[in-house]
Amino acid sequence: MPEPMRRTGGCLCGAVRFSGAAAPGITACHCTQCQRWTGGGPLFSVGVRDLELTGEAHVRAYRHSTWGERSACDTCGTTLFWRMQGRPIGFVAVGLLDDQSGLTVTEEIFVDDRPGWMTPWPGATQSTEAEEMAKLHAFLEGEAT
Ligand SMILES: [Zn+2]
Ligand SMILES: [Zn+2]
Repeated sequence: MPEPMRRTGGCLCGAVRFSGAAAPGITACHCTQCQRWTGGGPLFSVGVRDLELTGEAHVRAYRHSTWGERSACDTCGTTLFWRMQGRPIGFVAVGLLDDQSGLTVTEEIFVDDRPGWMTPWPGATQSTEAEEMAKLHAFLEGEAT
């Protein structure tokens, strides 16, 4: 399993830049929120630890649920990242990376929302909304105890 690698990236206008330790696997989320948010889903993202932002004043976070938030650049509107509220890990839209080499799509989630015109990604694991929500609730309950 390849290790996370330090990667950099930024939004379309350059107001927001970031760096962090990015996982090598791309997650494709087909949920209807990601479809609308990206304007043509899925959201292809990589988990980035130690996400360091410059131009954070231009990051506008939209809280779409009690646990998640979606951030965009307030100047150019670029889809930046999804994260659990208050967490240091962000799932950064892969298209923002300066260098996308060495990445592969490893998982598809919320596959029951995948539009009929899109086929499953070869080699990627598949999980449904029910499976993802069960994982989320187990995670949140584990933290609460
Ligand atoms: Zn921007
Ligand atoms: Zn999603």
